Amino acid sequence: MTLLDRPETRTGEIFARAQARTAHNYHPLPVVLEHAEGAWMTDVDGRRHLDMLAGYSALNFGHGHPALLAAAHEQLDRLTLTSRAFVHDRFAEFTEALADLCGKEMVLPMNTGAEAVETAIKVSRKWGYEVKGVPADRATIIVAGGNFHGRTTTIVGFSDDPDARDGFGPFTPGFRMVPYGDLAALEAAIDETTVAVLIEPIQGEGGVIIPPEGYLRGVRALCTKHAVLFAADEIQSGLGRTGRTFACDHEDVVPDLYVLGKALGGGVVPVSAVVADSDVLGVLRPGQHGSTFGGNPLACAVGVTAVRLLETGEPQRRATELGVLLRERLQAMLGRGLVSFRARGLWAGVDVDPAVGTGRAVCEALLGRGVLAKDTHGSTLRLAPPLVISEEDLHWGLDQLEAVVSGGGITG
Ligand SMILES: *Cc1c(COP(=O)(O)O)cnc(C)c1O
Repeated sequence: MTLLDRPETRTGEIFARAQARTAHNYHPLPVVLEHAEGAWMTDVDGRRHLDMLAGYSALNFGHGHPALLAAAHEQLDRLTLTSRAFVHDRFAEFTEALADLCGKEMVLPMNTGAEAVETAIKVSRKWGYEVKGVPADRATIIVAGGNFHGRTTTIVGFSDDPDARDGFGPFTPGFRMVPYGDLAALEAAIDETTVAVLIEPIQGEGGVIIPPEGYLRGVRALCTKHAVLFAADEIQSGLGRTGRTFACDHEDVVPDLYVLGKALGGGVVPVSAVVADSDVLGVLRPGQHGSTFGGNPLACAVGVTAVRLLETGEPQRRATELGVLLRERLQAMLGRGLVSFRARGLWAGVDVDPAVGTGRAVCEALLGRGVLAKDTHGSTLRLAPPLVISEEDLHWGLDQLEAVVSGGGITG
């Protein structure tokens, strides 16, 4: 029994309207949110919910972070869009700060994550032809099984998730898939046409899949050895989530291209970017790539504020500290409703015992207890609260998870 079955509630009415005239490309949980602050959200019937998803890590800094809101408000009144046909006064500030955060020379700002991935693909191919000398139109990019890099036609073409790809072909050629975490398979797939290896340092949508220790260092070494670009899709894993600025930092690895998005927009506006040195991004010349909204003044004002927050090291520190608590609590649930889990920083993929219920059923039961979480595949949940969550609230959220999974099955 949820509020959906009670049309007299605002939730029931607004939810039904939101579904009726919309493409059903999502299957939202039965909740209608109208306000949020920090890690807490309030629905239209006044109930409070603890956000344990954080917009798939787009809300690492929490809802309504004062510095991000102030930056956005201030910029809204001054200048919001110029197009890149002209330069605006917030542009250099953002690109310099982001380049410095990444230890790279250049930034190419876009809007969504998928656009940043597309940008990395185009740049890698052009680099392959102009710098590496790959014959025209022969470039290949190696990707990993279980990947998630976005939803464009090109990107879903190199997914192995049938839901993501079936019915959307024909697809862009030039991609080769190898098993994630398998360095021998990766090396075997590299040939003289290979321009890039595109991987997530931790696979987020895949269920927070952490590759074997040494994998990222191995990818780095193989890319260097064979003159191939290492493009790290840190859209979900980056910007503090794992306890370091980038997930690659855990192996002291520096990729050739950082692909960033989600938290870069502070949960306020879509901001994404590819960050690399000038020998890579320098291959683009005027007219060869672009975006009407990419790098707009509002995006830059928010984006530079997000970068400043990361420069303090505070979000990373909180992810590390709270991550210890998260790991301990999940450890205690093993064998008591949890089959296994993978965690790094304040980020976990949690495999619930299928006997308890589907991931969806667990999320609905959590919703009933005031916790917002999302299943990914089958009985796997992803936990990624905002990094500003208090220790007490995190404990409370995990209490709810424990109660749901250890209850011996979800009914009704
Ligand atoms: C979310 C995500 C994307 C796509 O980002 P959008 O902003 O939804 O286009 C790409 N790669 C990874 C790893 C992601 O988690």
